[in-house]
Amino acid sequence: MILSVSFINHTKFQKLNTVAATKYIFVTGGVTSSLGKGIISASLAKLLQARGYSVTIQKLDPYINVDPGTLNPYEHGECYVTDDGAETDLDLGHYERFLNVPTSQANNVTTGRIYQTVINKEREGAYLGKTVQIIPHITDEIKRRIQLLGETGQFEIVITEIGGTVGDIESLPYVEAVRQLKWELGNACLSIHLTLIPYLAAAGELKTKPTQHSVKALLELGVQPDILVCRTEKSLNNDLRRKIALFCNVNVNAVIESIDAESIYDVPLLMYKEQLDKVVLNKLKLPLQHEPELNQWKDFLGRLKNPINEVRIGLIGKYIELKDAYKSIAEAFIHAGVANESKVKLEWIHSEKIDNENVASRLEGLHAILVAPGFGDRGIEGKITAIRYARENNIPFLGVCLGMQCAVIEFARNVIGWADAHSTEMDPATKHPVIDIMESQKKVTQKGGTMRLGEYTCNLVKGSKAAAVYGKSRITERHRHRYEFNNKFSKQFEEAGMLAVGINPDGDLVEVVELKNHPWFVGVQYHPEYKSTVENPHPLFVRFVKAALDKSKNS
Ligand code: GLN
Repeated sequence: MILSVSFINHTKFQKLNTVAATKYIFVTGGVTSSLGKGIISASLAKLLQARGYSVTIQKLDPYINVDPGTLNPYEHGECYVTDDGAETDLDLGHYERFLNVPTSQANNVTTGRIYQTVINKEREGAYLGKTVQIIPHITDEIKRRIQLLGETGQFEIVITEIGGTVGDIESLPYVEAVRQLKWELGNACLSIHLTLIPYLAAAGELKTKPTQHSVKALLELGVQPDILVCRTEKSLNNDLRRKIALFCNVNVNAVIESIDAESIYDVPLLMYKEQLDKVVLNKLKLPLQHEPELNQWKDFLGRLKNPINEVRIGLIGKYIELKDAYKSIAEAFIHAGVANESKVKLEWIHSEKIDNENVASRLEGLHAILVAPGFGDRGIEGKITAIRYARENNIPFLGVCLGMQCAVIEFARNVIGWADAHSTEMDPATKHPVIDIMESQKKVTQKGGTMRLGEYTCNLVKGSKAAAVYGKSRITERHRHRYEFNNKFSKQFEEAGMLAVGINPDGDLVEVVELKNHPWFVGVQYHPEYKSTVENPHPLFVRFVKAALDKSKNS
């Protein structure tokens, strides 16, 4: 990297406090995007955790948005929300699902957030007249963010996944920060580079050249990877591993094969077979402790691969072309299916394509229906029509966030009889604003990070289906919304048979509704899907799949 002349004038470097005990692993990617850095990071973390280490994973995203909250789901998939209300990259969902440990704002940092911090400091005069530059000011801020998690003292190992692909302009400051940290912390750091070994069918061969080039690109930036994880469709033989090792200056046992897997949940075991965890610990000079305790994980996989039953559940949303837009919901169904020893076959149905004429034929045969979260009015009428079908035909229903709000609207229109009932998000002039903007949201003008976000408490009414599902009366769940059930109409809803059975005690906000006269019809204002993990499948999804199973047996 060429350093600017003014950089040389910077004699005073900010001294970074480092926690000696914490080890840092950096995961970069090369050749192409979508190689599965998130899954590899989560799988490695799982193995280290299963050996007794406390581990967390952080994602650095090289885009200018301060967080992904303002991004359309078509851009980067679902926006994942943490307990502390951070709107984050969907990879954090994988980290939590694999590790069963909550993440927080510190686990996801974007270029926008880094620059915002540095620019704010500059406006405060914190740089004492210096020229503020990418090196050292932006890279110092990146290094500070990387070490924040280590400094909490909670983690022995922090894995930092760097988004994007090596060679991108956007990634340069991050790779430079990695170079500096490796230099400053020495043995406490390790770098893993994920690359692709493509198979050329015409030649009948796996090709290593893209990997060689990608490692060269990293070397040009001053970073020698310690371990290469090679994504491949076919097994890597020893000759190939030796060749990669020789060209890329890594030990042959540090060339790790990452073969395409049937399920993301296979990857920790595949990485174990390749001894990725052992190589990492040896290089970090940490004891292997014991063999990874993976019995629960293996049990989960066994059930995943050998389901006894199958249910068909409709997922109705408007972003279904991109499955990542509903990542946590899809994964929550996998966990809940395993808990019920059933394969959940999701039917992805576009809400824009549902109308009164075709609803019966489109939804016929489904054992349950979930209406997804969302924003804006595209596809809203299709969601409402689908909910009516579920309600009238006794099909188990789960409405999540906007899905719950649509259930309220549908009930108001078709049961109470207010034909114009709507959410003021879609129709600000309706005479029956059964879903309305929260009081606290009325003054909000900035879009980013201003919704009702993160964990809130909810009290469940004794005797309700929801209380039975959770087995307790006080729960906490994660939120991401601006609109809410309008308590002005509570009485009419209750009289007509839609009950508010979950209430946030602080704001009196309705969190859960259910129908009195329906086998299983629940709407939740929060997002249960964010809290479902392999170890703790979410009770609401588990019970919903069970209801689908009951339906499948009775139909
Ligand atoms: N658009 C709705 C709101 O803001 C629902 C949000 C969601 O589904 N996450 O309240």
